[in-house]
Amino acid sequence: MTVRVRFAPSPTGYLHIGGARTALFNWMFARGHGGQFILRIEDTDQKRTVKGAVQAIMDALRWMGLDWDEGPDVGGPYGPYIQSQRAPLYRQWADWLLEHGYAYKCFCTAEELKARRAAAKAARGDQSYDRRCRLLTAAEVAAREANGIPYVVRFKAPTEGVTVIPDVIRGDIRVPNSQIADAVLLKSDGLPTYHLANVVDDHFMDISHILRADEWISSAPLHLNLYAAFGWPHPVYAHLPLVLNPSGKGKLSKRAQAFDDHGREVLVKVEEFRDAGYLAPALNNFLANVGWSFGDDREIFPIEEAIPRFELQDINPAPTRLPYDKLDWLTGQWIQEMDVLELARAVRATLERQGHEVSPEALLAVMPALRVRLKKLTDAEGFLRFLWEDGGSAAPATDRLASAKLPAEAARRGLQAARTFIAAAQPLDTATLSAGLTAIGESVTTNGKAGPFLGALRLAVTGQEVSPPVFESIVALGRDRALARLDAALAALPAE
Ligand code: GLU
Repeated sequence: MTVRVRFAPSPTGYLHIGGARTALFNWMFARGHGGQFILRIEDTDQKRTVKGAVQAIMDALRWMGLDWDEGPDVGGPYGPYIQSQRAPLYRQWADWLLEHGYAYKCFCTAEELKARRAAAKAARGDQSYDRRCRLLTAAEVAAREANGIPYVVRFKAPTEGVTVIPDVIRGDIRVPNSQIADAVLLKSDGLPTYHLANVVDDHFMDISHILRADEWISSAPLHLNLYAAFGWPHPVYAHLPLVLNPSGKGKLSKRAQAFDDHGREVLVKVEEFRDAGYLAPALNNFLANVGWSFGDDREIFPIEEAIPRFELQDINPAPTRLPYDKLDWLTGQWIQEMDVLELARAVRATLERQGHEVSPEALLAVMPALRVRLKKLTDAEGFLRFLWEDGGSAAPATDRLASAKLPAEAARRGLQAARTFIAAAQPLDTATLSAGLTAIGESVTTNGKAGPFLGALRLAVTGQEVSPPVFESIVALGRDRALARLDAALAALPAE
């Protein structure tokens, strides 16, 4: 069987971290089985559709590196991949159900339904639709239609027996049919509900497996009965474990804020994780551990290595909380292990989002030294401020440049010599700078050690107490800017 899976978000805003886990598992499964990963936008509920949400979701998926083979922007043989563009198909299959006696027209108004629900609630009775329109005769239906009374199309759910949801992760889930309501399939405006559109699309898009959040288990009996009515085989079901709040209390909801054990609000949007400086490979690594595990006691792994091991049967159905601290730790580990070029690219993109443009050369010069100081990508901003803020280098006060081991006069002499050396250094790299500037330092300090001088030099060049080491900082700044800052520092020191 060719594996074809889909991630089918409703464009109600952004990509939620729980949705990201669903997307990741679908993608891993497709990639591990030589299958296709499809992105489908379920926007049948136009009231909840938010402008720009599709783009935001696609951006977040791309940032995570989850590429899709078919979808709204890339197209594909089963398109369109946006449900609002497929309305005639749903109408056609709703009509088919009507013609074949699997569905009926319901003329009850919203007000009537509301009043009946309220009455049922007060009497502590069953609040689902009482099926009265299911009993209308053909003549009664025709009369209502002739009077132009609007209607919805409802499914004739079986009223007796049991529907079994065969779930790869949970085993068979048995639901008495008495619990299945006659759900609305087509609304009075002719647009489908989620249930009809979802089933029709999964069928016509040749979806082999449905991996989705466990909150959809309750819809599965209706869907299975729809497949049976249509006479279509149903896809394999795998309902993923619920993602809990980090506190363990309740579901990590899409509509509410989430809090950790200490009552602190935590991030839930993928874009927020990106902006907070987390690494995409670390986030994927983190999410892959939510309900699944690599085995061999391995917590840190690139997703590519997890793919061949990823099987649906191994997913643990138990609800799992998101251990946010783990993500911090994983990100730190990932940063230390990552290829320097890749890290430089990620830092550059982060700085760009923070509004700073830094040349690739400058970043590469500092990256090895910077890496050990980074826990998250956003930490780079504080260390590298001297690269874009000339104000930061406004000549540091003399009392900050001079010290007991480096009197003001020695500082001036050293900086002067450093200026001459940097102006002529060939090539301007850390090895050359280290040799020349260390020697200068040793010759000017009172204890004959370069440290106090190199500290002052770094302050003069970067204006920062914390920055990458001085040699790397000079290379990153480039000769001209480094000299200009030294000049400013020298001008601030008392003359001989
Ligand atoms: N549109 C649904 C959602 O937003 C998809 C559910 C499913 O995968 O069937 O989660």
